Parts: sequence; structure tokens; C-alpha cells
Amino acid sequence: MSILPIYLFGSEVLRKKAKPVKQLTDDVVKLCVDMIATMHNAHGIGLAANQVGELQRVLVIDLGAVEESVRGDSEEEAAEKTKQAKPFKSLIMINPEILQAEGNEKMEEGCLSIPELRADVERPDNIRVRFRDGNFKEMEMDVEGLLARVMQHEIDHLDGVLFFDHISKTQQVLLKPKLSKIKKGDVEASYPVVTGVEV
Ligand SMILES: [Zn+2]
Repeated sequence: MSILPIYLFGSEVLRKKAKPVKQLTDDVVKLCVDMIATMHNAHGIGLAANQVGELQRVLVIDLGAVEESVRGDSEEEAAEKTKQAKPFKSLIMINPEILQAEGNEKMEEGCLSIPELRADVERPDNIRVRFRDGNFKEMEMDVEGLLARVMQHEIDHLDGVLFFDHISKTQQVLLKPKLSKIKKGDVEASYPVVTGVEV
């Protein structure tokens, strides 16, 4: 199990579309395990393969952190709590697709690839997803609330989309100074990173 460096905004891999996983090889299993370790180490609630430099349609979500967050804690507090409460409850989603989306809700989002930047993002709050789990078994699930939000955020990553792509142009302009700092590598994170400038 290894902790992988997380690619930051400015890295091209974050703007690329990941490819479907054809079969559950040892490499894919290792990627899932490493991504879970990487997510926990960074106190994240979710992580997509693009964020560790792999263009495969794989994402992981910390279900424990989602549950804690729903109880009213911030994402960071929730991730910290679940870090202490082992074993982790992680969800592996391979080749996830959104089959249906309904409703609309605004919620603040952040991203391990864009440290210290948060913005309110509008997304559907009820979704039906199909994916393959950690055993490559096909699953379908109806999800809502924070879990639906995290899934949409992570599936976006697999398509090269970042959360601030969903906000208004005016808000994007306001975030620009922070984004260009991250792009230049002028950023601090509490976990190993690869900045755009090094790629
Ligand atoms: Zn993200």
C-alpha cells in the first residue's frame, strides 16, 4: 500500500478524460488500494484516479466521512474523525455513470487538487448511478445529499472537469488569483503533491 502524490491544478492529467477499465487486473486493485490510502492520508472525502496521475475510470469515496459530515461536521472534521475510527468504510467505483439526475442544490465544495479553494456549486441532489465495485460486480444505486455530491464531483474528475467549471464566470474571475498561485506551485498542502509546473 502506497501513498501517492496528488496532482494539483495546472497538471494536464486533471483536464484529460480517463478510460474505462476493461477488467480487474492486479494493477487496478493496487490502484484502488493506494487511492484509498492516499485519500485518508490527505483527509479527503473522495479521490479520482486522474488526481493521482492515472487515466482510468476509478474513484474512491470515504463513506465514513460522508456519514459524519451529514451529522453536521465539516468535511475536514468528518474525515479526521473517520481517520481515527478504523476500519475505514470506503466505496470503490469503477466505470461509474450517472443514469439519472434530479433536483438542484447549492453546497460548498473543495478539492484535494485545488488546496485552500472552496466555492458554492449547484448540482442535482438525487442521482442514480451504475458502476462496478471493488470486486468488479455491476451495481446500481440511488443516492442523495452529500454522497450524491461527492460522486458527481469525482465522476467529473474522470471527465477532466473541475468543480469551479460549474460556477459563474464572475465567481471564476474572483478565484483567479488563488488559482494562478496554485498553478505556479505557490501552495502548501499537508500531503504529497505534484504541482503543474513540474509536469
Ligand atoms: Zn476534486
